[in-house]
Amino acid sequence: MAKVILNAVEKVYPNDFKAVHGIDLEIKDKEFMVFVGPSGCAKSTTLRMVAGLEEITSGTITIGDRVVNDVPPKDRGIAMVFQNYALYPHMTVYENMAFSLKLKKMPKNVIDQKVREAAKILEIEDLLKRKPKELSGGQRQRVAVGRSIVRDPDVFLFDEPLSNLDAKLRVHMRVQLSLLHKKLNTTMIYVTHDQVEAMTMGDRICVMNLGRIMQVDTPLNLYHQPSNKFVAGFIGSPAMNLIEGELLKNNDTILVKIGEVKLPLTPNKAEKVRSHIGKKVWFGIRPEDISIGDHETQNGVLGRIQVLEHMGSETFLYFEVDGLKITAKIDSMDAKGLQVQECHGFIFDMEKCHIFDYDSEENISL
Ligand code: ADP
Repeated sequence: MAKVILNAVEKVYPNDFKAVHGIDLEIKDKEFMVFVGPSGCAKSTTLRMVAGLEEITSGTITIGDRVVNDVPPKDRGIAMVFQNYALYPHMTVYENMAFSLKLKKMPKNVIDQKVREAAKILEIEDLLKRKPKELSGGQRQRVAVGRSIVRDPDVFLFDEPLSNLDAKLRVHMRVQLSLLHKKLNTTMIYVTHDQVEAMTMGDRICVMNLGRIMQVDTPLNLYHQPSNKFVAGFIGSPAMNLIEGELLKNNDTILVKIGEVKLPLTPNKAEKVRSHIGKKVWFGIRPEDISIGDHETQNGVLGRIQVLEHMGSETFLYFEVDGLKITAKIDSMDAKGLQVQECHGFIFDMEKCHIFDYDSEENISL
C-alpha cells in the first residue's frame, strides 16, 4: 500500500531560488501519475524530494502511512529510474540487476528468483549473461527498470527515462512501461516534458509551471476541460489557438470579438461568461475544432492559407484572418486541392471553444 501525499511542499535552493511554491498533491495507491511541464518547472525537483535526494524546505511528504521528511532514500520504499541509467559496464545484466540485493546481503537463491522474475516481466531473460555494451538502447533501459523491479518498491519514480532513446523506441518503451504498470500494479510517478508521453501513459497528469501545479486530472479531462490558459496551451498538438479578444453583447447574443471578427457564443457558453461582457478575454479553440466551410455562416471566417503541412491522415493548415494567425487540423481528404495563398471559409465549432479571464487566465467557460 503506498499512496504518496505532498502537503504544502516548498523548495528553496541554497542560492535562495524558490523552485517549488507550496505543492499539495495526493497520488493514489497503484496510480500512474505523470508530472509534466516545460523545462525548469520543477518536475525533477519535486520527484527528487519524494525520493529523498533533495531536502524539503517546508511541508511534508508522506509515503504509505509514514511522513518521510527525515527518512533516508534507501528506507523510503522507493526505486528510481533516471534518464542516465548508467549500468555497471563490467557487470553482466544479471549482476547489474542483482547488485542492490547483494548489498542487502539477501540469500543467493532469493536474489536469483527476483532477478529471473524481473527478467521475465521485462522479456530480457535471454540477455542475462550479456554486458551493457552488448545491448541496444532499449534493452539497456529495460535492464535499468529491472534493477528497480527486483527491489519490490512501494513506489517507482521515473525521471525522463526515455529521453535518450530514438523516437520509435520511445513509443515502444512507452507501451512497455504502461504494460509494466498493469503487471506490477504499483504506484508510479513519472516525470516528462513531453505531453504526448504524459497523455498516453498517465492515469492522471499533474501539469506544472514555474514551481506550481496548474491542474491535476485525467488526460481527457485536461484536454477537454483545461482549467486555465496554461494547461489549454500545453496539452494538445498542434496547440490550442489562444487569441486576445473581447466579449460583446448584441441583443440576446454574446459574441467574442477577435481582431475584426465577431463570433457568437452558443447559449450554453454565453451563460457561463455573462459576467465578463465588455471585458478583455482570451479566446481558445483547438485546431481540430475548425473546419473548412462557408465563411458567410454565423461562425465562419474568411482566411488566407499560409502553410499546409500534410501529416498523412490529417493536414495542419496555418491561415491568417485580419492579421490573426490561426491553426486548423483537418482530415487530409478535405485538404486535397487546397493551395497556399488561397482564401477559404473556415467554420469554428463554438460549442468547443474556451474563454479565459484575461488577467487570471482561468477558464470561465466550463
Ligand atoms: P524540471 O525538472 O521541470 O526541468 P528542475 O526541477 O530541474 O526543473 O528545476 C526547477 C528550477 O530549479 C529551475 O529553475 C532550475 O534552474 C532550478 N534549480 C534546479 N536545481 C537547482 C540547484 N541545485 N540550485 C539552484 N537552482 C536549481
